[in-house]
Amino acid sequence: MNDAYLPLAYLNAWEYCPRRFYFEYVLGEMDDNEHIVLGRHLHRNINEEAVIQAGDVLIHQQQWVWSDRLQVSGVIDAVEERSTELIPLEYKKGKMGRHLSDHFQLCAAALCLEERTGKTIVYGEIFYHANRRRQRVEFSPQLRQMTEEAVRAAQLAEARPMPAPIEHKTKCQACSLQGICLPIEMKYLRS
Ligand code: SF4
Repeated sequence: MNDAYLPLAYLNAWEYCPRRFYFEYVLGEMDDNEHIVLGRHLHRNINEEAVIQAGDVLIHQQQWVWSDRLQVSGVIDAVEERSTELIPLEYKKGKMGRHLSDHFQLCAAALCLEERTGKTIVYGEIFYHANRRRQRVEFSPQLRQMTEEAVRAAQLAEARPMPAPIEHKTKCQACSLQGICLPIEMKYLRS
């Protein structure tokens, strides 16, 4: 593994908004808003490495994984071992079905896990705190391909100019970097 591998969490940022990814990953800019603080708070109970037995399920919390093929690395919130199956699990503060970026992050984590274990990971799950439900995410050939394409695009972004703001009102309103990015002002200047 190499320190220069793309962190899995930044892949989520890339899918959310390439400009946000550029601020965070390339320029090292970070800022908090209520969504970030709440997400951190909700992660407080699963932030430590541990192995927990819950009935028939063995839960590996904070599992470190990487892929030399894709050159990505990071931590999965949990990997559940159910019989012979391995199921990667991510905890998110938002609502189910809103964030395709979460699927890419989870799928990239599964690709890492497959490379590390030699097992096929068929699906993973995302627990959304906002509606307290788990969403099952199938790692279809299409999702795998889109995830690999996103990884490659994110890796190339460093050598390219900063992307323009996306025009997505909901995403920009929820984005902690709005005060640095200034999407409305940028749009006004460009017009
Ligand atoms: S404010 Fe909008 S355009 Fe700017 S980084 Fe955030 S999501 Fe992207």
